[in-house]
Amino acid sequence: MTTTDTPALAIEAEGLHKAYGEKQVLTGIDLRVPTGTVFSLLGPNGAGKTTAVGILSTLLTADAGHARVGGHDVRAAAHAVRTTIGVTGQFSAVDGLITGEENMLLMADLHHLPRQEGRRAAADLLARFDLTDAARKPASTYSGGMKRRLDLAMTLVGGPRIIFLDEPTTGLDPRSRHTMWGIVRELVSDGTTVFLTTQYLEEADELADRIAVLDGGRIVAEGTPAELKRRVPGGHVRLRFTDPAAYERAATALRETTRDDDTLTLQIPSDGSQRELRAVLDWLDSAGVEADELSVHTPDLDDVFFALTTATTPATTPATATTATATATAKSTNTPKEHAR
Ligand code: ADP
Repeated sequence: MTTTDTPALAIEAEGLHKAYGEKQVLTGIDLRVPTGTVFSLLGPNGAGKTTAVGILSTLLTADAGHARVGGHDVRAAAHAVRTTIGVTGQFSAVDGLITGEENMLLMADLHHLPRQEGRRAAADLLARFDLTDAARKPASTYSGGMKRRLDLAMTLVGGPRIIFLDEPTTGLDPRSRHTMWGIVRELVSDGTTVFLTTQYLEEADELADRIAVLDGGRIVAEGTPAELKRRVPGGHVRLRFTDPAAYERAATALRETTRDDDTLTLQIPSDGSQRELRAVLDWLDSAGVEADELSVHTPDLDDVFFALTTATTPATTPATATTATATATAKSTNTPKEHAR
């Protein structure tokens, strides 16, 4: 009935929960992805991104909540969802024992394409993904980037209108990553909806119309890349000490610092300019303190998580020493992953 209609929302989910035994992985996820857009679910390793993709692509069943993909309920109309979507990612469909071309033809058979049409689709897609030269070689001989491209090409054989890309560039070298980004951009230019999971802020920033940040089983922030970046503080200078007394003296001498008492590290907001660095060094000199390590950071995924998962502190709160300590405490309880690595 609705298969020929294009719903305004390609993906909508409400209150998705999923646990593995005692372990709560998703604790109430809401998603709304307009048709024809790129949506990125951004989160660190183990955040639950693959679990979310699994539920939306009908491979997993949610413990609670509802989801519709392509206008179909993932639970009640799983088959209809499967005919609408393509999924590539960690569970790659590529068979290494056969050639790239044979993999493609196998997919064409699975989609019941007539032989001629299947051959044509395979040849077109192999060419589009720059795999024509390697088409007759076993897929096991392909590089990581080539395997990902073949995986995506196989997904496109059935002409899905919604594609799930689960960490499409994790482990790829920068050049293959850029190739993949180009492919994703091309996909959306013809109206395909892309649901992309990634651990890389840069990737979400490059590709996504909207980003949702997944942490602790929940979406902790959602918005356009520009909106999210506005909520992330700029760069900072990090000072690490081995001597607790020196650490305390520096913490007292420097204003607007964020303390991490576990690692004896101070973080000072900074634009990374020579002028600001000099000011920090002058401060330390005048306090007679020497840091054991000084590093300059530009915003990255850790900063996004730090900013967004401690967002309970109102932005208008003055950066007093007390606030800084409170923030540091929140940081160590809310983002244990920072300490894990
Ligand atoms: P991500 O894709 O963000 O790395 P996953 O969705 O793969 O995260 O995993 C989220 C959490 O759920 C992880 O801690 C993982 O160990 C756990 N997990 C995933 N699949 C299973 C499973 N089948 N059984 C038990 N735990 C699982």
